[in-house]
Amino acid sequence: MAIKYIHQADLDGKKVLARFDFNVPLQDGKIIDTSRVDRALPTIKYILENGAKKLILMSHHGRPKGKVNMDYSLGPVAEYLAEKLNQEVIFTESAIGCGVKELLTLKDTRIVLLQNLRFHPEEEKNDMNFAKELAVYGDIYVNDAFGAAHRKHASVYAINTFYNKEAYGGLLLEQEVLALNKILMSPKKPFVAIVGGAKVADKIKTIEKLLINVDKLIIGGAMAYPFLKAKGQRVGTSLCSEDDVILATKILKADRGNKIELPCDHIVSEKFGGTPESCSSVNINDDKMGLDIGPSSVSKFSQILSTAKTVLWNGPMGAFENTDYAAGTYALCETIANLDAFTLVGGGDSVSAANKSGYADKFSHISTGGGASLEYIEKGELPGIQALKFGV
Ligand code: AMP
Repeated sequence: MAIKYIHQADLDGKKVLARFDFNVPLQDGKIIDTSRVDRALPTIKYILENGAKKLILMSHHGRPKGKVNMDYSLGPVAEYLAEKLNQEVIFTESAIGCGVKELLTLKDTRIVLLQNLRFHPEEEKNDMNFAKELAVYGDIYVNDAFGAAHRKHASVYAINTFYNKEAYGGLLLEQEVLALNKILMSPKKPFVAIVGGAKVADKIKTIEKLLINVDKLIIGGAMAYPFLKAKGQRVGTSLCSEDDVILATKILKADRGNKIELPCDHIVSEKFGGTPESCSSVNINDDKMGLDIGPSSVSKFSQILSTAKTVLWNGPMGAFENTDYAAGTYALCETIANLDAFTLVGGGDSVSAANKSGYADKFSHISTGGGASLEYIEKGELPGIQALKFGV
């Protein structure tokens, strides 16, 4: 049974409870990257423009570990939303209790943002009673929080139990699922995936799954060192745990089609943040660490990508937050952006690199969920999406 999306809902005169992913980065109480809220705006506007009587927005923010911690308050999001919608957004002190129900009975209350759901330990415990208390707020439930759809949490999972036939995916969730299905179900060939970043263990299952479907799998960033070491190359003091080398060895064994492509040169330094030096060999000296892919690797990877018709990219090619080690990531961004292919980028850091590179608008789809998109690729389903079918 397919899930229902918001355009199938009759919103007229209804109270709509909608879950978003407003997990935006803050600095000194200001949002420094508004993309997650911006990507939610079409769904918010759709709900308001299609006759909803009230819209109650909810989200998590950061990891306050079930305690009230104002560093993770959604207050700045409430202000930003009010500015963008040019309407009052009432911000509650707490997601439950504190008169939220009474507030919703007031005629003039139209848009309400609930305080951070994760101030309550019940949210991450997928607590049924907590979900029930939230569900009281809305006749209709909408989930547009793709970035949280891989979590079995109360506001994305248990809550669906209370919405017989009235649970819908939002516009962003729909866009994300369509884009990922294109990659999963019928990728135009050649299909090239690029996996970078640092967390081998987190991405191992996705890599195993991708190896079946891709024509080439490019591995860069700190991810590459365990693979290089597993192949007998020297990686100096680069990020590379023995556990990751074991995982990489297993994957290399499974790669019977020789699909995996690794860097052949590097940008190195004696320490993180030290002076960058080029290392034209695949082997790194014992006293140096690899912090970016080198120019020959960029050429090698760009050559592989040149004929691709589908490209999936997750994870930077180096420690790109420092401009000394950003060239490899940005060069690859430029290559991908200029391809005549369906291109999808996912993962907070790769999305931020795509934005900083100035090529973001040339990608076919930029996913708002790093972990969620990887899990969807691995399993073809996510708990928060599956749960929307509870009452279908
Ligand atoms: P991930 O969350 O797994 O996508 O990892 C992203 C992080 O990996 C970014 O913060 C990068 O700075 C970091 N990273 C990528 N390549 C390297 C590298 N060669 N050395 C150290 N950190 C790296």
